Amino acid sequence: MKELLYYQNAMQQEFTATVVHTGSEPDGRQYVVLSNTAFYPTGGGQPHDTGTLNNTNVIDVEKIDDEIRHYIEGEASTFSGEVHGKLNWKRRFDHMQQHAGQHILTAAFVELFDAPTVSFHLGSEQVTIDIAVDSLSNEQLAAAEARANDIILENRPIETKWITEQQLVDYNLRKEVAVTGDIRLVIIPDFDYNGCGGTHPTSTGQVSAIKILGTEKMKGNVRVSFVCGGRVLAELAMRKTVLADVARQLSVPETEAATALTKLLASQKTTEKALVAAREELLAFEAKALASSDTHIIATAFHNRTIQELQKLARFIIAERADVIALLVSENEDKLQFVAARGTQVEASMKELAAKALPFINGKGGGSDQMVQGGGERMITCEQLLTAMQDALQ
Ligand SMILES: [Zn+2]
Repeated sequence: MKELLYYQNAMQQEFTATVVHTGSEPDGRQYVVLSNTAFYPTGGGQPHDTGTLNNTNVIDVEKIDDEIRHYIEGEASTFSGEVHGKLNWKRRFDHMQQHAGQHILTAAFVELFDAPTVSFHLGSEQVTIDIAVDSLSNEQLAAAEARANDIILENRPIETKWITEQQLVDYNLRKEVAVTGDIRLVIIPDFDYNGCGGTHPTSTGQVSAIKILGTEKMKGNVRVSFVCGGRVLAELAMRKTVLADVARQLSVPETEAATALTKLLASQKTTEKALVAAREELLAFEAKALASSDTHIIATAFHNRTIQELQKLARFIIAERADVIALLVSENEDKLQFVAARGTQVEASMKELAAKALPFINGKGGGSDQMVQGGGERMITCEQLLTAMQDALQ
């Protein structure tokens, strides 16, 4: 294990090593294997490190066939002799903060509620743990978060220790370890004992802070999403920007944004209702005006009226006059739509009328002898369609 520098000293950012061999995968990815390395390979839920070997970018690190392969940009065969490795420390330290924060939050849920974590995912934006419970209340979430942040503030050491399987009984582990042989324990004294092969900072204070962001039910567990360390500040900055923008647009202080939004939405609903009522009245007036003509066929063309509006208008017209037929056509972009309705004193079938009119617009329609609607392509003008409909009544 001496060659795994991330286990000797997780805080080591640079190292020198000699090239053991180089190779390429069947898909062409080139890699370098070293005598020792501080690059952590993907494993145990923690993503791999990135960085440089000499001045070449290391873009992936994987443990394959018991060797650690450093995948680089460029030709691996140019590597030989001694090389200088340098980690992308921002990325590695972020992973260590998230990983140690996960240990702490998981242990807090166990300590307070006997609620064990069954799986963990360290994502590029958030970390999630799946907890084996049916539900977690807001109070429980707040209590676990507060306990975790207390452990951080106490700045307890985070120790690692290699033990044998036989020695396991001396430790009260949070969960059973899956590996055999030598086992690596990660210990936060009097709080958490856990088998783990990942990297962690040397004390809880370096995790800096933990903030739970949300929960969702997931296959009989509760998934808790959270962020630690630098990601807490990044989240705060993002949320600050969004909230400030919302508050500015509502012209209220940020603390009053939610209340102002509730009011705004309520007032929008009222306005919408009033608008619907006003439109209805307007249609009634329009129908009266159309019905006042002295013909028995009221034929009118419109632009951009919905079929629902045409139907309402037609109903208003025949309610106004029992002795008329209303033929209403509207042109909507490349479509023509129509409604035909008859008053109670008229005998002509609107269904038959529609059957004769629809072929002119390659259209489809439906309805009763009293009222029909239809629509199709704008192959002729509104006026031509109205003429065809009137001819069909002869
Ligand atoms: Zn760990």
